[in-house]
Amino acid sequence: MDWLMSAEVYNTILVGSFVYAAFILVGAFLSKAPYGRFGSEGAGLSLSPRLGWFLMELPATLSFLWFYLHGKNASEWVPMIFLGVWLIHYANRGFIFPLLMRVASGSKGTFGLLVVVAGWLVTTLHGYLNAVFISHLSTHLTPDWLSDPRFLLGMAIYLFGFVMNVHSDAIIRNLRSKAEVESGERIYRIPQGGLFRYVTNPSYFTELVSFAGFAIATWSPGALFVLFVSAANLIPRAFQVHRWYLNKFDNYPRERKVLIPWVL
Ligand code: NDP
Repeated sequence: MDWLMSAEVYNTILVGSFVYAAFILVGAFLSKAPYGRFGSEGAGLSLSPRLGWFLMELPATLSFLWFYLHGKNASEWVPMIFLGVWLIHYANRGFIFPLLMRVASGSKGTFGLLVVVAGWLVTTLHGYLNAVFISHLSTHLTPDWLSDPRFLLGMAIYLFGFVMNVHSDAIIRNLRSKAEVESGERIYRIPQGGLFRYVTNPSYFTELVSFAGFAIATWSPGALFVLFVSAANLIPRAFQVHRWYLNKFDNYPRERKVLIPWVL
């Protein structure tokens, strides 16, 4: 696997990844990814949402760890800080978030197998492109980087995005009581409070903010890829979700923006 750590191979995979992300962007505008509110029970091959999320996100942790540990700077301080950030981020997305999800008991799968399989390539690339850069190819991630304005600003942005993302996901989760979930109902309500006062999709907004912060803090092309491919997935879906709420609820707050408070 050492050949995957060379700068030439890394750069080639990086370029290919951006091209792939451009295709994802087009695809996401043309169709709705079949999971969550746009997934339907028994349509095609589907998994339970909890298992679907867990499986789809797993390669991001495994591939990051694998490539990180093969990097020549794996035991340096600054790379280890980013290793910690990555593991916490994906512990939330890949393990805690699926575990806490409120899925109607007895319901069939609504998380398309295709979403999981397509997601595997992206989440594997997430891990590879970030870990190889952080623990092997970068030359600026020395202890001096800890006082660099890009590190300080980027980490502040990342932390704001991450905390508000967890908060927004929690508001959504609490829209269904445990009793409702146990009775097998799949209920949707209008989320209120937090950043939902301003936008329909604060989870998507803060996910993108956190990845923008991570890209600034690491100054890494791999992190830029994560930001780009996440935007390719989430911006079209944000418009689809906004339209879905407007169609479903007559009393949906019309003043809410789609994704970016006061802007979009
Ligand atoms: P889901 O559509 O799967 O929604 C998450 C959970 O909330 C599901 O259990 C869903 O139920 C439930 N839910 C959603 N809306 C309501 C509502 N109005 N009332 C009651 N329950 C509701 O996932 P999301 O697309 O919302 O994404 C979840 C997180 O993952 C976000 O933080 C997002 O930013 C992140 N993400 C990141 C991506 C990336 O590329 N980096 C890609 C996609 C997501 P049900 O399944 O029954 O619909």
